[in-house]
Amino acid sequence: MSTNFPVNTFYSNKKSKRLLELEVKLEQGVSESKKRPLPPLLTSSLLGHPTDWKIFHKQAEALNYVKQRGLGLMTFAFEEQINGNEGRRKFVVTHPTNMWKNHICRPPDKRCSYEVIPMETHCKLYFDLEFNKLANPASDGDKMVETLMTASFWAFEDIYKLKVTKADVLVLDASTPAKFSQHLIYQISDGAFQDNNHVGNFVKYLMMEVKECRVPEISVEDQQKLFVENGKEETEPVSFCDQSVYTKNRNFRLFLASKFGKKAPLIIAKTNMYLPNRAFYNNEDWPTVDAAFFNSSLITYFGSCQSEKRLLTFDSNKCKEGTSSDSSKRRTPSPETKDPSLNGYSASPWIEIDRFIAGLVAPAGTVRQWVYFESTETIVYHIHGTRFCSTIGREHKRNNIKYVVNIPNATYFQSCFDHDCGATSRPLPQPIPPEHLPWTNLLTDSPSFDPI
Ligand SMILES: [Zn+2]
Repeated sequence: MSTNFPVNTFYSNKKSKRLLELEVKLEQGVSESKKRPLPPLLTSSLLGHPTDWKIFHKQAEALNYVKQRGLGLMTFAFEEQINGNEGRRKFVVTHPTNMWKNHICRPPDKRCSYEVIPMETHCKLYFDLEFNKLANPASDGDKMVETLMTASFWAFEDIYKLKVTKADVLVLDASTPAKFSQHLIYQISDGAFQDNNHVGNFVKYLMMEVKECRVPEISVEDQQKLFVENGKEETEPVSFCDQSVYTKNRNFRLFLASKFGKKAPLIIAKTNMYLPNRAFYNNEDWPTVDAAFFNSSLITYFGSCQSEKRLLTFDSNKCKEGTSSDSSKRRTPSPETKDPSLNGYSASPWIEIDRFIAGLVAPAGTVRQWVYFESTETIVYHIHGTRFCSTIGREHKRNNIKYVVNIPNATYFQSCFDHDCGATSRPLPQPIPPEHLPWTNLLTDSPSFDPI
């Protein structure tokens, strides 16, 4: 019998010796590889993307590093906790896939990270929408976002001939009981903006159109609802679309990130209808649905589908046509400056005048919408189908035309939505033929007013 043979000790010793040898070899290997790191290109080709993770105290230095190194690296900003509750912003340069892996491993309240949107970098259309809920108890944020989206789809079609739908818009939400807060990030498969300056110009133009209630197919009330009280007294309503987010090297909060010291992370909004197309993603880099959403939420990252994009531009001088920025040139007084009292798409209460105006613009044009301003007793007819403006003697490229009817004076004139147009020569109001004013006939002829 061999019961006294120390089997366990024997194998155990042998195993320890082998492990020790392996450990030594491993350490040697590690120290050797440290002496001769893999060249960046090889690292990149082995892992699919560069492994850089470089921290900077200054944003400019981080951006500079990205410019020099390229390789799809991006700059992210993050808040680091110092001395209790204070935060300090630092910058990390890395590939977005690395950023995601780091980001998702952190506890939710420690994900205080932002994408830096460098100037002169192609980017997506993005919106930062917010308003104080307590100061605007009647405002319906979801409805307002829908209105803004519809307006933006109209502008895309009108300016770029691009069809964009709700399924192309990633909606992220960080609302609290006190504040409505959403980000919209447009996923346009065949278009990218030149940079966020062009995006800012586009948004400025869009919000001006909305402010002046000029977006077709959206009612005047709905367009006006995008302007809210900002919670401070004695100020005019402000747009719920923050137009200060298109500045140079803007920091824009990441998906699932919270502001420093706050606990309201940006999550997928309940109303979001965009789903990432998994065919575009490398499963190893973007292994989960959240990872794919993170990828889509980046403003300056287009993944593998960057090459076929059409570059969208919007110069600041384009904002000029149709804006009221130059108020000195503006016709005065504009009958539409007061709040409209009534409006609609089908017949107005003055159907005879409706028919008269429709007859003026037919057959090319139709009346798209009418708006009645009680204070001036004026009806404004928005015209669709023709942009021929009598002031310039040709069609406008972008601005639609309108007819303005003054009811007490029984006059009308053709105008347009270009405030610079005819700044010096305002069209003279023309009389409306009496047959289109049946109620005045009734009053002047008055055969039926015989006393009983
Ligand atoms: Zn005109």
